[in-house]
Parts: sequence; C-alpha cells; structure tokens
Amino acid sequence: MPKRQSLWKRETQCLVCEHKMNNYQAMAKSQSIEYDKWLVGHSRGLGDYDDYPSTLKTTVCPNCLMASNEYSFGVDNYKYFTRNMRKNGELVEMFKETEQGRFKALAREFASLEDACAILDLEKGKPANMRCRATLEKVWRERDKYGERFFTMLLSEPRDYATALVCFALDRHCQMLRLGYEKDIQYDANNPEDVHQKVKEFFEGTRLEMKSAETRLFYIATNYQQCIQFIDEMLEHIPPQNREKYEERKKLYAREAFDFYRYSYANEDMTAIPLEFKEGGIGYLLCLFYRERGEMEEATRYLRIAKRYADNTLKKISTTNQQNFINWVDDLCKELLAPEGEGVQPAQA
Ligand SMILES: [Zn+2]
Repeated sequence: MPKRQSLWKRETQCLVCEHKMNNYQAMAKSQSIEYDKWLVGHSRGLGDYDDYPSTLKTTVCPNCLMASNEYSFGVDNYKYFTRNMRKNGELVEMFKETEQGRFKALAREFASLEDACAILDLEKGKPANMRCRATLEKVWRERDKYGERFFTMLLSEPRDYATALVCFALDRHCQMLRLGYEKDIQYDANNPEDVHQKVKEFFEGTRLEMKSAETRLFYIATNYQQCIQFIDEMLEHIPPQNREKYEERKKLYAREAFDFYRYSYANEDMTAIPLEFKEGGIGYLLCLFYRERGEMEEATRYLRIAKRYADNTLKKISTTNQQNFINWVDDLCKELLAPEGEGVQPAQA
C-alpha cells in the first residue's frame, strides 16, 4: 500500500519583496515529532502518512533568496518579521539591501558542493552543470529575465541533500542578519563571511553578560546539527575518495553548533529548546560536546544541570521524547558521574 502524501505546499508572499514563495507544511495530524540524541526534531508519519522530509524545512524566496527554517515562515503567525511595525519595516529594508549577500551565500555553498551535485544530478538524470558557479552567476546577472523561474525550479521539492544544505546555509545567513539587526552589530551585510565572523565575535566578547532572550542562537545551532545529518546521508552517494572534505566539514559544523549552543546558554535563552527541556536540554547538549572534546570537568558540570532538571521537573511528564531524554541523561550519569558514595570511606565503627 502506498503511503499517503503528507506534504502540503502553501503559496505565500515573500516578507521582503512580496514575490510568491512556497512554504512546505505537513498535513494536519499527519506527523509526530521525534527528537534524536542531539535534540534535532524529525517528523514521523502517523498512520499511513509519509514522513515529512527535513530537506524541505527551509522556505526560500526564488526572487530575493530570503530564507527561513521557521515552520510557518510567511504564513499565519509569521506574516511579519516582528509585531513591531517600525522594526518590521526596518528589517524589510535591511533585507532588500542585502540580496547580493544572499546570492553570495547560495553560490558559495553550491560551489563547495559541486562534486556532490554532479553525482546527485547524474543519479536523477538532471543536467550536471545546472548548479555550478558559472550558471548561477549568469542567471543572477540576468535574473530579471529568468532568475525567478530558475530559482523556483532549483529550490522546489524534491530537494536533494546538496540543495537542502544550501537552503540551510541561507537560513543561517538570514538568522545572523536578524541577530545583527537586533544587537546592532556592525558588519558588511553583503559579505556572508563577514556577517558570520562579526556575529561570533560579538557573542564571544559579551557572553555571560548578555542575558537577553535570543532564540536565533539555538536555531542556528540546531541548523548545523541537522546539516551534519544531511552530510551523513549524502555521503552514502559519494565515492570514498571524495569523502574526506565532507568529514572535515562535519567537524567544522560540530564546532559551530557547539559555539552557538554556548551562546544560547550564556544568554539564558531557553524558549527555543524543544519540549520545555529548558536548561536541562541545553545542559545535556553542552555535556555531549564537552565529553567529545575530552573536557570532562565541564561535561560533568553541565550534566549535573541536566540531571537536576530531569529529576525535579521532568519525572512527572510522560511523552516518549521526554522519556528518551531522561534515559539519555541517566546513561550519561552512569558513564560520567561516580556512583554516589564512591571514594568516601565508610566511617569507622
Ligand atoms: Zn523575496
């Protein structure tokens, strides 16, 4: 029996240029969300529904390349960047002036994936040079003529892993631009590398003193974690001799994820963390990263935060995701924390 399709393509208007763009949603009550060990959410089809594919999480405007991984971006509650209309207008202006930067982010990411694109295109029987830098630059130069049609085709479903990685890179870039606007960070907004670097310098420099909720930090970290999983899936298609650079990229993404989780924790922003795991969730994630780095003192410090949260707040709640979380924390405790009483000499009678 073929599965029922859960994908629902909603046409919406770009928040920046008002062009039509597609937002991919799942049919109502067709999915449940499972969190993996890195607290990245994955949709699982309920009943006879298909899984909703993670590769479609990003909504991208084919005209100005505005992008977001927010589920309902451009529709319903996300019809504006913010409820503050003055700020909203300023954000629209900022994004109008930074189209060139978004194109650079897209072209750079595709160029770095060129070998993978060629292989994936071959499998799909598509022309192999469609996503190379020269084609993209030509289309961008003459985008009044056929840019919108080309990018619509390029970014529509189904998206392979290379396209999904590019869309996620666009989301990160746009999230960082919004952070920069919020915090008044000075950068060259049309240079994605400069934006990235200045945002990180800002949060490194002021961390632990910021204390202003900023959900984007957690979103960016999760974006990197999801991209590591896309690369893993993509590697199944890549010949072994080409894999090394992607292994390097995974390490780079893991370092980036770690940095943005740290900033998230330092800002005491817990609102974006799924299922009300709050400081327990971020403590658990930071424990995983410090453990991988071999920094055990830090790992156990954050694990204690997660354990306290799991014991005091979560024990009464009973979804599978929450139960999984408690189990993961308990497993880490068995591994990293000395059993109670160990090392303490029993009192002599
Ligand atoms: Zn647009």
